[in-house]
Amino acid sequence: MKIHNFSAGPCILPEEVLKKASESILNFNNDHLSLIEISHRSKSFVAVMEKARSLSLELLGLENKGYKALFLQGGASLEFLMVAYNLLNKKAAYLNTGTWSDKAIKEAKIFGEMDEVASSKDKNYAYIPKEYLIPEDADYFHCTSNNTIVGTQMKEFPKTEVPVVCDMSSDIFSRQLDFEKFDLIYAGAQKNMGPAGATLVIIKEAILGKVERQIPSMLNYQVHIDKESMFNTPSVFAIYVSMLTLQWLKDLGGIEFIEEVNNKKAALLYNEIDRNPLFKGVVAKEDRSTMNATFVLTDEKLQEKFNTMWAAAGISGINGHRSVGGYRASMYNALPLYSVQALVDVMQELENSQSSPS
Ligand SMILES: *Cc1c(COP(=O)(O)O)cnc(C)c1O
Repeated sequence: MKIHNFSAGPCILPEEVLKKASESILNFNNDHLSLIEISHRSKSFVAVMEKARSLSLELLGLENKGYKALFLQGGASLEFLMVAYNLLNKKAAYLNTGTWSDKAIKEAKIFGEMDEVASSKDKNYAYIPKEYLIPEDADYFHCTSNNTIVGTQMKEFPKTEVPVVCDMSSDIFSRQLDFEKFDLIYAGAQKNMGPAGATLVIIKEAILGKVERQIPSMLNYQVHIDKESMFNTPSVFAIYVSMLTLQWLKDLGGIEFIEEVNNKKAALLYNEIDRNPLFKGVVAKEDRSTMNATFVLTDEKLQEKFNTMWAAAGISGINGHRSVGGYRASMYNALPLYSVQALVDVMQELENSQSSPS
């Protein structure tokens, strides 16, 4: 049976990418060696690293604009700390739009003054705050483009003179943005790129070198830039799979193409959530995420029945985050439109089973 994988992360990857990735475990590049048993400094792997870095910049339209792409380890969670370590001198401004922002704030507080410019914590993060001021004397402004857990997404980004840092873990490469407005972007690979174990960091080199403190080598962006993302052994497999996914995306037509598909998928599901009287959305409509759609049943008594129905239809991974409950359908780049249709069909079946006398 075809499984429709709506997992929030780690999540669905393109089938052709998984095929190539599995071949590379046995025979990489037709060298009759495994990708994971050769030196990361071998010609074959250095080429993979270079390709992964250049494709990242190319897809975002950031080539030759002073940006560097790095593939680091430690997940987005280590970036919460690294960003502050490398950029926070005195004061940082953070927008709190969810659990991930909250965690980033907690780490940054270790290094300096925290100005939480706005927060939607009061309403369980069910909206994106819009009116706030970013102090001109902040070292940088940090935001999270997509709240993976609750399902909100920033549609607008503030205009500010201070450097902008963005955690794009769960919507990078999913939509077109003016990426030049950002000075540092980071994303764990496991939501739209590849397996867990690699973190993509896109950084404008000019923002570095402004803090007084000594930075340990492994946490120092400049060290990783100077060593071309090979300061130590990188996560070779995760980077290879990420590279394949980025190549897959480029061949399809890049972000411009996939954004249209993503908008179609999101529209299909949200229209059903709004139309079907048995379901309702969880977050403010204007802030709904195209990546993670959250919804609940209007009648909790139908839960068991609905759960049985979607599982029987081969749908997987739509239980909501343990902190939110309800349902969350994650529709990352590799999820096909027909998988969303399969979910919508089940929602309609549930509705029909209620209205017909049995
Ligand atoms: C998943 C996620 C994280 C955490 O990523 P790790 O790689 O597990 O550290 C951080 N931010 C956002 C927005 C996420 O979705």
